[in-house]
Amino acid sequence: MKKIEAKKRFGQNFLKDMSVLNKIIQSMPKNNFKLVEIGPGLGDLTQILLRVKPLRAYEVDRDLCVHLRKKFRKEIEEEKLRLEQTDVLECFDKGSLENEPYDLVANLPYYIATKIILEALEDENCNSMIVMLQKEVALKFSARVKTKEFTSLAILSQSIADVELLFDVPSSSFEPAPKVTSSILKIVKRREFILGDKPLFKTVKSFIGFKKYLKISYSSPRKTWVKNISSIYDRDFAKKLLDDIDISANTRPHEISVANHLNLYEKISKR
Ligand code: SAM
Repeated sequence: MKKIEAKKRFGQNFLKDMSVLNKIIQSMPKNNFKLVEIGPGLGDLTQILLRVKPLRAYEVDRDLCVHLRKKFRKEIEEEKLRLEQTDVLECFDKGSLENEPYDLVANLPYYIATKIILEALEDENCNSMIVMLQKEVALKFSARVKTKEFTSLAILSQSIADVELLFDVPSSSFEPAPKVTSSILKIVKRREFILGDKPLFKTVKSFIGFKKYLKISYSSPRKTWVKNISSIYDRDFAKKLLDDIDISANTRPHEISVANHLNLYEKISKR
């Protein structure tokens, strides 16, 4: 069979390290939810995922889909694998990747990794993600309060999920080798956000509101939260909000915990 060349424009770096593939499988949550993979590529991860349960996979590259249909002819016939030849971002635009709760496992195309994670966070059917991405970006999602990486991505994801960087993967584990180190990130949504009964985020609209609040809070990350937020709201009102929760007016946005950002957003949105 003709060798399939990796296409840069689709962010193709194929994972060739069996020990990493096995560690990914071991990290998966154990439940009866559906399974979704984004970007099956040559199908190495897909093959071992299929040992766990049936899955639905989204792949944009037509040539790879031809390869995957041959490789998994039997599994597709037996409906263990549903292969969707499409751009996954268009699917998110239309709604959910599954019509019931699902876990996402993927070696993500790095050029759209952040976008995919944000979409999956908003997809109410997505229960969890085990995703490989650039280490630098993984650190932004898993950052803890009072570190300089603790910005909107960490707060947004940790406001609805437990987020943990599991382990790093060297570039030598891929073909072709990417220029950067990769990491496996685990994001497990808290139960109330999958079932959609958490009042604060009951509608996607309020999640969008929280995103806007964070954008304003971090408009100048080195400046204080009060200074940033008073570009929209009254300065004394902003100071009082902090005072009410015993936080100094000189505090910068990355020094405020997820719970306190949620608290501040709730009060601001009621004003
Ligand atoms: N899963 C394979 C592995 O681990 O070796 C391939 C991972 S590779 C980093 C990313 C995969 O995502 C490629 O197969 C690429 O074609 C696919 N991809 C890129 N953009 C996509 C998109 N918008 N929608 C769906 N798949 C996409």
